[in-house]
Amino acid sequence: MSEVLTQAKPNDKERNKEEIIYDAIIIGGGPAGLTAGIYLSRARMSTLLIEKALPGGQAILTEIIENYPGFPLGIAGPELMQKMEEQAVQFGLKIEYGETTEVKIKEDKEDKEDKVKIVKINNKEYKTLAIILASGAEASKLGVPGEEELRGRGVSYCATCDAPFFKDQKIVVVGGGDTAIEEALYLTKFAQEVTIIHRRDRLRATKILQERVFANKKINFAWDSVVTKILGKEKVESVLVQNKKTYEEKEISCHGVFVFVGNIPNSKFLNKLIKLDEKGYILTDDNMMTSQEGIYACGDVRKKLLRQVVTACGEGATAAFTAQKYIEELKGVSYK
Ligand SMILES: Cc1cc2nc3c(=O)[nH]c(=O)nc-3n(C[C@H](O)[C@H](O)[C@H](O)COP(=O)(O)OP(=O)(O)OC[C@H]3O[C@@H](n4cnc5c(N)ncnc54)[C@H](O)[C@@H]3O)c2cc1C
Repeated sequence: MSEVLTQAKPNDKERNKEEIIYDAIIIGGGPAGLTAGIYLSRARMSTLLIEKALPGGQAILTEIIENYPGFPLGIAGPELMQKMEEQAVQFGLKIEYGETTEVKIKEDKEDKEDKVKIVKINNKEYKTLAIILASGAEASKLGVPGEEELRGRGVSYCATCDAPFFKDQKIVVVGGGDTAIEEALYLTKFAQEVTIIHRRDRLRATKILQERVFANKKINFAWDSVVTKILGKEKVESVLVQNKKTYEEKEISCHGVFVFVGNIPNSKFLNKLIKLDEKGYILTDDNMMTSQEGIYACGDVRKKLLRQVVTACGEGATAAFTAQKYIEELKGVSYK
């Protein structure tokens, strides 16, 4: 039995003295999951958060977050996330490390009222009344020859992690949204020259970022262009780029290729238990309820318009509150 299990308090839904049934299990320790953890633990729900890597999620991949309220000078991504983790743990959130591989509803033919859900991590199974899915998303790949082979040898998806390796070198950034532009600006602190390759003739990024990027002398652009191949023997040496309007191909010599072309949701482990959209994002109502009773979703793994820290936190709070009401109802708690 893990330390977490021995420490956790069994709740009154426990059928078997050996068996612990958590009030809630949160899958994913990014901004959405940690916020849900703060709310549930503060409401004195026995809550376990499961994280496959480090708590903090994608927000630890960025040097500075300027648009999270309360920090007029911005705050470093890792610092903000460390504070969220501390805050959640301080209220009693338990964190267990491991990858969730399956979520299922317990089938008990004798007890039709059984509302227990099961979360699998490798060979272990945890039982819970409610689940909050906060597994976020990860970087989409370009899917071109050379990308997989040269990953970690010039191909990167994280500027904060890898920028120092490219001091005074030439790099390309692929993408035109907020993340691509923020990261391109950050990369100019290290690189000699940054070329932004974007498939359209204008950027999607927020205006303030556009102003900064157009004013930066180290940055130039390849508009209407897509990367078709990444070249290099041991390390990245260049990229082949095709103009989508003229079909002209050119080779841009570079040492690094930073890819920021969107996200794919971490929802594969749900294996059709929950309704998803065609891209794999979880469908919920306004209260973060999914298609399965007692299972909620929040943050980047949800189908929604704006994927940011502030929206992930807001949805984490809503999911926790909706889950709390559900758990209290199951346990017959009433405040009337
Ligand atoms: C480079 C970069 C820069 C960014 N800059 C900003 C910015 O300036 N401002 C802003 O507001 N937003 C920014 N964002 C977006 C922001 O980071 C995300 O919107 C936010 O982190 C989403 O939070 P989340 O909790 O929903 O998911 P995530 O942050 O993706 O966290 C999900 C967590 O779940 C874990 N997980 C996944 N699958 C499993 C599993 N099966 N079992 C257990 N754990 C699992 C992951 O390891 C991860 O820790 C940036 C993102 C990137 C990549």
